[in-house]
Amino acid sequence: STILVTGVSGYIATHVAKSFISHGYRVRGTVRNQETAEKVRETFSQTPGCIEIVIVPDIAKKDAFNEAVRDVDGVVHTASPFFYKVSDFDKDMREPAVNGTLGLLKAVKSFNSKVKRVVITSSFVAMQDFSKGHRPGYIYTEKDWNPVDLDMAYKYPSLGYVASKTLAERAAWDFVRTERPNFTLATINPPMVYGPVAHTATLKSLNQSVLDIWQLMSGQAKKVPSTSVPLFVDVRDCAKAHVRAFESFNGGRFIPVSGSFSFKDICSILQEEFPEYADLVPNPGPPDASETFGIDNSLSKKELQMSFERSLRETIKDTARSLDQIAKRK
Ligand code: NDP
Repeated sequence: STILVTGVSGYIATHVAKSFISHGYRVRGTVRNQETAEKVRETFSQTPGCIEIVIVPDIAKKDAFNEAVRDVDGVVHTASPFFYKVSDFDKDMREPAVNGTLGLLKAVKSFNSKVKRVVITSSFVAMQDFSKGHRPGYIYTEKDWNPVDLDMAYKYPSLGYVASKTLAERAAWDFVRTERPNFTLATINPPMVYGPVAHTATLKSLNQSVLDIWQLMSGQAKKVPSTSVPLFVDVRDCAKAHVRAFESFNGGRFIPVSGSFSFKDICSILQEEFPEYADLVPNPGPPDASETFGIDNSLSKKELQMSFERSLRETIKDTARSLDQIAKRK
């Protein structure tokens, strides 16, 4: 069977597509333009028969996905803007995130009754209440929602990204509740995603989470940044969670988590494991004494039949190794 993966050029989407292919599926991936299509062909050059690429120039446009959804057996929606410096919330964030998600769901409902499950890459930021800080003692679960709303998004540009993810996920659940389509929904709500880069990337085109690690390795970060989302998942496990969510009996919200972390921990690992970069990494100092919130994702683990056992050290070593290769490629 064939799975539509939107935004297949992305960091997570590449692992998602590879994971579906390794589980015996074919992938139809969407990209924005021909140049990106070529890069994706290069990324999947070992399995050319398993991938087909279609161009959807603007996911925010009405009817953008009407053709792309035809005849596929499942849909995974990952395409969404992920950056923090937002100047025009509507144009940069809300339209691609919310209209993109709703347009895709409408297209599946109207043009492909074969699809029984749609998986959306949401985010743990759609669950975390940032106004409460590190919230010691609190345990997040699949029931939590970030209370951010449209007014707050317009007022505080720094909330642009988290608002886009929260509003898009809410819109998706509202859609299935009111429109009663043929499919059920599963959302994957990952915290910070780290791990090897599998797509054709340069140091200038790194996605936001991997860029955080490169800034720590390359001397661009002079101080250890504060850790606003203190949980991580390895990108390979996050990708597998998408496959399992597609195949799972029940839909729902799933939180893939490998463990907790702080940027201080990451700096220590980078210094210990990569002597060549050690002097560029900001000095972590003593570990943080303050407690952060906890997580109970046992429902997700049970439904996905996954245990998420990769350690922070393994994930960061593999991230840094692939960044080192990208840096030395030129
Ligand atoms: P990338 O930036 O690597 O991937 C984003 C993908 O979305 C790319 O394919 C990109 O296309 C596409 N995209 C971005 N903006 C638009 C737009 N305006 N119109 C159409 N397509 C667009 O990031 P990630 O792989 O990290 O993120 C993938 C998904 O995972 C996102 O939904 C993100 O919110 C979510 N996520 C990521 C986390 C992380 O730590 N990385 C954590 C939690 C959730 P193009 O290649 O053309 O730019």
